[in-house]
Amino acid sequence: AVKLDNVVKRYGALEVLKGVSFDIKAGEVVALIGASGSGKSTALRCINRLEQIQGGTIEVCGRAVNDDKVDLRALRQDVGMVFQQYNLFPHMTVGENVILALRRVKKISRADAVQISRKVLDQVGLLEKIDNYPEQLSGGQQQRVAIARSLAMQPKVMLFDEVTSALDPRLTGEVLRVMEDLAKGGMTMVVVTHEMGFARRAADRVIFMHHGNIHEEGDAAILNAPTTPELREFLEHDL
Ligand code: ATP
Ligand code: MG
Repeated sequence: AVKLDNVVKRYGALEVLKGVSFDIKAGEVVALIGASGSGKSTALRCINRLEQIQGGTIEVCGRAVNDDKVDLRALRQDVGMVFQQYNLFPHMTVGENVILALRRVKKISRADAVQISRKVLDQVGLLEKIDNYPEQLSGGQQQRVAIARSLAMQPKVMLFDEVTSALDPRLTGEVLRVMEDLAKGGMTMVVVTHEMGFARRAADRVIFMHHGNIHEEGDAAILNAPTTPELREFLEHDL
């Protein structure tokens, strides 16, 4: 579903991705880990073309992402992205936040949009909050709404960038559980995370990035038996 082949990304003279390749199959859950500055967020941003690349190719659901003729709108409907900052609109209810893109981007009827919003809010355990405003929700609940908003677009792939990093540790569990449910439900996911527990439980594959390269890769067992000193050191300091 997501294939990177020798991807190079530079900011001026700074090479941030130095020839990154991976191939994520439909339904696969990949945890992307690595130290600050190793290129994790950049890799995610390249996947839905929030960034242009200077070398290599990226393919998402059969689309050549960096082709000039790519349908960006269709690409971004296929690829949902959730960030650390959930950025809900404060003046809109939870339900209105979730249906907004359905109405504006997908142009579907209000009745259908409401039905979808109820389904995805139920999926993240927040149907009862549909008429509340974001400020009336905890951080973990707001982040679950942000996930629901993304799910409403029926993406084929979901990208998560440290979605629990801004949360009180008490609240991370409820968000991780929603993501684990999604993983079990067969969603294709690329998850940048410092939550090694989540990676162990939910990831089919772990990719460790180091200085813009994939330095070590394997199933979750590599977290217990890293072969490179860099991954060992990362795990010792990041737990
Ligand atoms: P973190 O764990 O801190 O989020 P990361 O692995 O996500 O780190 P990236 O955000 O991908 O790291 O950044 C990789 C490198 O690219 C860093 O050295 C960063 O300073 C640099 N970088 C990121 N965005 C830009 C930008 N817009 N302009 C210039 N340099 C950038
Ligand atoms: Mg980052």
